[in-house]
Amino acid sequence: MDGASKEVPPRADLLVVNELSVYHGQLCAVDNVSLRVGEGEVLAIIGANGAGKSTLLFTIAGLHRQKTGTISYRGDDISRLVAHRRVRRGISLVPEGRRLFNSLSLEENLKVGSHKAAEGPFDIASIYALFPWMVDRRHQKVLLLSGGEQQAVAIGRALVANPKVLLLDEVSLGLAPIVIERLYEVIPDIVRQGIGVLLVEQDVAQGLRVATRVHCLLEGKTSLVGTPAELTSVEIEHAYFGSDLHDTPSASETS
Ligand code: ATP
Repeated sequence: MDGASKEVPPRADLLVVNELSVYHGQLCAVDNVSLRVGEGEVLAIIGANGAGKSTLLFTIAGLHRQKTGTISYRGDDISRLVAHRRVRRGISLVPEGRRLFNSLSLEENLKVGSHKAAEGPFDIASIYALFPWMVDRRHQKVLLLSGGEQQAVAIGRALVANPKVLLLDEVSLGLAPIVIERLYEVIPDIVRQGIGVLLVEQDVAQGLRVATRVHCLLEGKTSLVGTPAELTSVEIEHAYFGSDLHDTPSASETS
């Protein structure tokens, strides 16, 4: 896995979400959302606080149950499959806040992720190849690592299970820009393995930098979809904040 990145063209669909609606009590947090993630693709879900991004990711991971709609993975309907079976099939979530085992070492956390891992390109050695700094710190308790280092361990722990779909929730939260940049540098190495990445980002610029396609949510609904190249900053701004494009006189000046 060298650093020379060559874009992998979209291939077969790995994940297909069809007209998904998810509720928290009476609140419709995800409202009739459909999306696809193909092999080697990075789909960025962007949206403001409370837009439904985490609920969407949790539902795909099997940690929330949808009210209506379906989730298919490599052609199979997995809408009713419990979370740990989705992991076995090849869907791994890196949750917001990392949720590592703080009293265990870095390497022990990776071993937890590799327990009953699927066949695939990732093992602990290849995680160390992705993040070479880990080798010297491998016996350190994760509690003593920085926020960025812990986030890298969380990504590594998800990867050693050899997922085909990697769900990343707010990788950048609370981290310095340079740290975020370093974490995102590994994305090309990951997608080169044919993995589809579905990531949630509040940092729109960061989402646009790494994404093959962008899916914007506004109050649970799809407000915009497209490739970073075809979407203007004004369209994204309005899809993110929800104001009417035609109400803004300066819209054309700022695109
Ligand atoms: P953030 O970036 O703030 O995490 P988000 O886009 O991930 O936002 P969600 O966390 O999915 O959005 O929340 C969507 C909506 O569902 C919000 O209105 C939120 O208040 C509500 N919500 C989320 N989790 C729960 C819960 N466990 N119980 C009740 N309501 C919830």
